[in-house]
Amino acid sequence: MKRILITGGAGFIGSHLCERLLNKGNEVISLDNYFTGAKSNIIHLLDNPYFELIRHDVTMPFFIEIDEIYNMACPASPIHYQYNSIKTIKTSVMGAINMLGLAKRIKAKILQASTSEVYGDPKIHPQPETYWGNVNPIGPRSCYDEGKRCAESLFVNYHEQNNVRIKIARIFNTYGTRMHPYDGRVVSNFIVQALNGKDITIYGDGSQTRSFQYVDDLINGIIKLMETPDSITGPINIGNPDEFSIKELAEKIIEITGSKSKITFEPLPTDDPTQRKPDISKAKEILKWEPKIKLEEGLVKTIEYFKETLSL
Ligand code: NAD
Ligand code: UDP
Repeated sequence: MKRILITGGAGFIGSHLCERLLNKGNEVISLDNYFTGAKSNIIHLLDNPYFELIRHDVTMPFFIEIDEIYNMACPASPIHYQYNSIKTIKTSVMGAINMLGLAKRIKAKILQASTSEVYGDPKIHPQPETYWGNVNPIGPRSCYDEGKRCAESLFVNYHEQNNVRIKIARIFNTYGTRMHPYDGRVVSNFIVQALNGKDITIYGDGSQTRSFQYVDDLINGIIKLMETPDSITGPINIGNPDEFSIKELAEKIIEITGSKSKITFEPLPTDDPTQRKPDISKAKEILKWEPKIKLEEGLVKTIEYFKETLSL
């Protein structure tokens, strides 16, 4: 039995990770300040005596004896990370320093939830890990993108300077049950709009693309990465390479929900990436991992979840 700390454990991805690692027979500690996460995401795990909750902010130092750390704490949707952009940078950067310091001190293995946003608005398609990205350092997305890029740099430097055992996962757009219904992300927005019969708000002309990964596939990928030998540090892209335009996504959601919603077009936010698709050759080769859940299948599960939780 390993003792595992999950920062951001009450969030969308963190809660799935807590559940899976508990089911695998580990002791799991969730650390969260509940900025975007919620106890309701993990309430069903509270009967398990091997699960603990800690209310704490990763920007403050924290000490505990554990074997592994999954550093997931950070708001991930544009409206949440732009709400207090300075705090977002502090969460990524000071959170990484505090968790890396802890890992160094107790010799724990640590995984960083990095992001496809480190590629910015990419000029290379699909994006391999060797691509350095095209990020605006002073734009509205920079608090998130540059915070995550700095965190990657910190991870690599703690590894090289202090032999900390690190793993960097570059996570591409992920969706699924326990997404926040009002986080403004495209999948949650479109589903909630479709179920309410409201207009589906496409930003821009809807030709921009994303590659959507169902959360179960992501969890399989990051646990596999954590279990690799110490020589494997990443970064490794974890995402689904099936690429869709935002217009195609809207049409699929209208079709699956049978909604009468109409599509409307609104201005494209500044620095919105034009296209995004992971090159997952490294994950396939090193982790023997690839996503299994097709977009339709994942959307059906997610739509059911929103119907139940929002009583629609
Ligand atoms: P989320 O907002 O649901 O979860 C983040 C969790 O971190 C929340 O529970 C929140 O309360 C907590 N948190 C935020 N700031 C904190 C702080 N200062 N101290 C302690 N806890 C804090 O988002 P998510 O989608 O589950 O994302 C989890 C991680 O995965 C994030 O690091 C995100 O950057 C990364 N990621 C997510 C996606 C995606 O598509 N969902 C894509 C790439 C990377
Ligand atoms: N988007 C949209 N309508 C919405 C929400 C988002 O057209 O109601 C677009 C957004 O402009 C972007 C894409 O969908 O091009 C994905 O947005 P999201 O915020 O989910 O993720 P990210 O841009 O961070 O990949």
